[in-house]
Amino acid sequence: MTSQRPMGYMGRILRVDLTRGTIRTEDLPEEPVLRRYVGGDALAAYMVLRELPVTTKPFDPESIVAMLTGPLTGTGFTPGGAKISAAFLSPMTGNTLGLSNTAGYWGVELKQAGYDGLVITGASPRPVYLLITEKAVSLEDASKFWGQGTRASETLLREAVGLKDARVAVIGPAGENLVRSGMLLNDYGHNAAHGVGGIFGSKKLKAIVVHGTARPPIHDRKELIAAGDRWRQAVLVTKRTPATKRTVGHGREWGAVNKLNWRSSVIEAADTRGFDEDRITLRPCFQCSVLAPWTVEIGEGPHKGTLLQFNGGSEVMDAFYNLGIKGNDVLYLWGRINDVGIECAHFSCGAGVAFEAYEKGLLTKDQTGGLELTWGSVDAVERLLDITARREGWLGELMAQGPLEVAQAIGGEAPNWAVHVKGGVPAMHDWRPLMGEMLCQLTASGAMKPQSGGLMNPPPDLAYREKWGPLDPRAPEGWASQHLVTEQYRHFMGVVGGCWHAQNAAKPDGLKSIVDSLNATTGWDFTLDESLDAGHRAILLRSLFDAQRGWSAEDDWKRVGPRFLEPVPDGKHQGFTIARYLPEIIQEYYKLSGRHEASGRPFLATLHRLGLEEFAHHSHEHYEEGRLRGR
Ligand code: SF4
Repeated sequence: MTSQRPMGYMGRILRVDLTRGTIRTEDLPEEPVLRRYVGGDALAAYMVLRELPVTTKPFDPESIVAMLTGPLTGTGFTPGGAKISAAFLSPMTGNTLGLSNTAGYWGVELKQAGYDGLVITGASPRPVYLLITEKAVSLEDASKFWGQGTRASETLLREAVGLKDARVAVIGPAGENLVRSGMLLNDYGHNAAHGVGGIFGSKKLKAIVVHGTARPPIHDRKELIAAGDRWRQAVLVTKRTPATKRTVGHGREWGAVNKLNWRSSVIEAADTRGFDEDRITLRPCFQCSVLAPWTVEIGEGPHKGTLLQFNGGSEVMDAFYNLGIKGNDVLYLWGRINDVGIECAHFSCGAGVAFEAYEKGLLTKDQTGGLELTWGSVDAVERLLDITARREGWLGELMAQGPLEVAQAIGGEAPNWAVHVKGGVPAMHDWRPLMGEMLCQLTASGAMKPQSGGLMNPPPDLAYREKWGPLDPRAPEGWASQHLVTEQYRHFMGVVGGCWHAQNAAKPDGLKSIVDSLNATTGWDFTLDESLDAGHRAILLRSLFDAQRGWSAEDDWKRVGPRFLEPVPDGKHQGFTIARYLPEIIQEYYKLSGRHEASGRPFLATLHRLGLEEFAHHSHEHYEEGRLRGR
């Protein structure tokens, strides 16, 4: 590679200081930084790790949000090239790296406006929004949008800037009121979760409106079209149809959904009540053939005629099944939670504890502000969403903090009913029957989306190096290796600006076609091994950031809500729990990935192998030396 910056990038990022009200353009790093971190998750995490002071709290003005696309974002020739990732200090855990990413069109539009990403710091004294076009970037008054839901805000902001094709990412009342799980929503229903919306709120940044028409430069367009076609073939099997939207969502694949604060997992016919009456339209993200997002017009029940737009995930359905809600009421509440802008798992795990406490007499109407928290009450859930988003009353304030805080304030047995991981929450599905997914949720940096997978055999493209499998879903052997490699290739998608929903590693060419797309876009010559190393770097950046702030690997099995590790209570997976294999299976994972099994810090040799020497002072060896010297 002779040029200083490969193709696929716009070459610039924006630096926005909201305290000073200043905006400046900065060059994107060049080789070798880009070759090492590529973009997306890893480049955003790298910037935050280098720039965020260790003592900063998530909602301090000095707190930083870095948002980065990758070289595959917005080429238009591959599936899944629609992602932008955000890295920040997690408001949910207070000491781990928050990572979120969102698809749709917003990240693509940012690139079309001429920027690969942006870094936001400081705090404005009054509500503002950022307007980014190819011609200018400005901070504008957002006072009249403050307090509005995300849906109305998106429409109003587009009208206000007079650009009907502009794309909007916006927070709702939850973000404005510093709810720890406040989300940033874009393109009516896509979201960047895990608390980034709360950080926007602390900075009084209501929205970012973007508009542009530029296209990223491509190294070899013909090669990219060919590789993109192969990639499309590999994901054909995951293409959605309206029929897949008339089900309980992802949990149908393993036969469990969340019920009654994780006290049942059985799927019932009533869960999908009325879905057959709904009018469903599948939508693409930018140029993506998978068609995961959808629009529904509810066709039955009290919300008949309501039009709602959703992204491709189905976690929100489990969030409301978990509170006893069924059928089209689930879809209605999905629209409501998006509008106030709260992450579903954080809400549902907190509300689940409150509902259970109400059932068992530990919580009274005096404490709930008159709310009757009876399972399946749409009114109670809707009102709870509103008081959480506005931090109203004793319960609303606790819900805004999280499930652990709700449980501790209720007291008695309630802390045993909480589902949390390090104070954050797992993504909302009943993962407990699944060894690989449980490993993912437990080791994630607190409030991270799934970055692992459940393959029983190595991906065909990796058969040359991965020798584990077939795995037994009920025995621990091999799952640590499986978790590491799936985490690597999932993170690889995050760094290139791709959507992991559009990655089908189980099919031949499912990974190779993506690597070839990257090479055709950039002009690089990545191998599969190098791609996995790129994912591995992203994983290690997370550990480095977290360890700097007091996290250690032991938190992965010790700071976990007890209910999450209870045996599956009923249904086809009844009695199973990963808890019987802890901590050994997590320790094995850390060892395999070149980190110490108790501290989670990378070994020096691992940092050297991956070119991360600049973080050597974070290594386990240096940490131990320092500890010994300090004794
Ligand atoms: S795979 Fe689904 S969510 Fe991902 S970019 Fe494509 S349509 Fe969007």
